[in-house]
Amino acid sequence: ETVDIPGFVEEAAGSFEKAYGRHIEITIIDPFSMKTDRAKLRQLLYIFLDNARKYSEDDIHIEVKKMEIRIIDHGIGIPSSDLEKVFDRFYRVDKARSRKTGGFGLGLSFAKELAAVIDAGIRIESEEGMGTTVILTLSEFSFSSRTLKEKQEERK
Ligand code: ATP
Repeated sequence: ETVDIPGFVEEAAGSFEKAYGRHIEITIIDPFSMKTDRAKLRQLLYIFLDNARKYSEDDIHIEVKKMEIRIIDHGIGIPSSDLEKVFDRFYRVDKARSRKTGGFGLGLSFAKELAAVIDAGIRIESEEGMGTTVILTLSEFSFSSRTLKEKQEERK
């Protein structure tokens, strides 16, 4: 399915704003369309937006750039020593600071698996006390219908 990325982002951000009453600022630098799995892309966006919502108080920003969707917040950030580990299942930075937000530490590990299925990459840039940018790098989904399991086998 060909997805118009700016339209898709606006729609997804709009329903997120309604659900949580948080403002999301969208900047489209390069509009693009691509073949991808819309449902999986939406799940990915929601995981990142949900983290931005939980770990920041100001407006959330989404930037659409050639083959990239960036989710930017100006919240508590992630210490560099934890950056690698946040993708691990059940890993949460400093339980004390995360306690009030609830959560199991599963969002990002699930995101990693979803991204693998649609051939996307995830990168996180963050500075403690300054904020976090999640960069989702998209590539045209081949629709070869390899299953998640097959893809995991390939990566071994
Ligand atoms: P859930 O299972 O509900 O997703 P979670 O938010 O704790 O819970 P992850 O989404 O996997 O789980 O995130 C792992 C940890 O990474 C979080 O506990 C948090 O410490 C840190 N983290 C993730 N996103 C951000 C962000 N935008 N700003 C600051 N810290 C973040």
